[in-house]
Amino acid sequence: MTQAPLLLSVDNLATHFFSQEGILEAVDGVSFDIYAGEGLGIAGESGCGKSVTAQSILRIVPKNGKIVTGEISLIQNGESVDLVQLDDRGQEIRQIRGGEIAMVFQEPMAAFSMVYTIGNQITEVIRLHQECSPSEARERAVEMLRRVGMPQPEQTIDAYPFALSGGMRQRAMIAMALSCHPALLIADEPTTAVDVTIQAQVLELMKDLQRDMGMALIVITHDLAVISELCDRVMIMYLGKDVESAPADVIFRDPKHPYTVGLLRSVPELGEGHSQELDPISGSVPSPYRRPTGCPFHTRCPDFIPDVCDVHMPPQIELGAGHRVRCHLYVQD
Ligand code: SF4
Repeated sequence: MTQAPLLLSVDNLATHFFSQEGILEAVDGVSFDIYAGEGLGIAGESGCGKSVTAQSILRIVPKNGKIVTGEISLIQNGESVDLVQLDDRGQEIRQIRGGEIAMVFQEPMAAFSMVYTIGNQITEVIRLHQECSPSEARERAVEMLRRVGMPQPEQTIDAYPFALSGGMRQRAMIAMALSCHPALLIADEPTTAVDVTIQAQVLELMKDLQRDMGMALIVITHDLAVISELCDRVMIMYLGKDVESAPADVIFRDPKHPYTVGLLRSVPELGEGHSQELDPISGSVPSPYRRPTGCPFHTRCPDFIPDVCDVHMPPQIELGAGHRVRCHLYVQD
């Protein structure tokens, strides 16, 4: 099987926040690649840096944050553009946002203005990125609403966001994000704000659209079940570090990093222990302002090696077949 072309390469990305409390190293040296049509899941507890990674790609990091090192290369028509070098308010990144790369958020209300109909807002995105008349843009918007399973799209297009149910708003937001046929869709906790039945429908919809449109997908979630539904590969983050990444089947079958092992144990239906009690990871994530020395997970790790793990940051170890881990247990002599 031939490898799909490389679409986005993130290399040693670090994004920090500066405040009176100190410097928060929200993302600290993260690297990953994503290929056309592929699904990558980024998982970890809240505060691990997964959403800031997405904000960095789109250059929408909040004001007190800054990308301090790294490259984010988007490959378009064989040309590579480093998104870190672009003016975050400039024309070029605005064309890429919503064009090549689109995003759906946990809360659809954040994506829509309440004072315009969803049709106004979807057609505006279409006309910003594609040359077409207002009536053509409306036709495309109706078509996209139909595609995401919106009932009566010809009528619903004129509804205001607040008049739609949570599930319908979620569909409308996905329609808006996909209206310019992005090469990459970033979904940040796409199903957290909707109930379980709608969750299953939204996941099914995203899977179908990804396959039909040949689009790459980055799913950011704390929910490993979402990743197992949608993703080919997984990157696990802890306190701003990419602690393990591997093909999804490998992570679920043979996790190596003690944090990944703990995460999977706390979701028995995905981990090995179908009949085991829920076994959450002990302790809590330390304050990101007081990051532990050495391995950031050493304060909670059952495999902690004294005078090693609390002193030295583990290097990234290649285990083969696209499996990488940052842990002293796997350092070869
Ligand atoms: Fe645990 Fe040490 Fe590995 Fe960190 S480096 S995960 S503390 S064994």
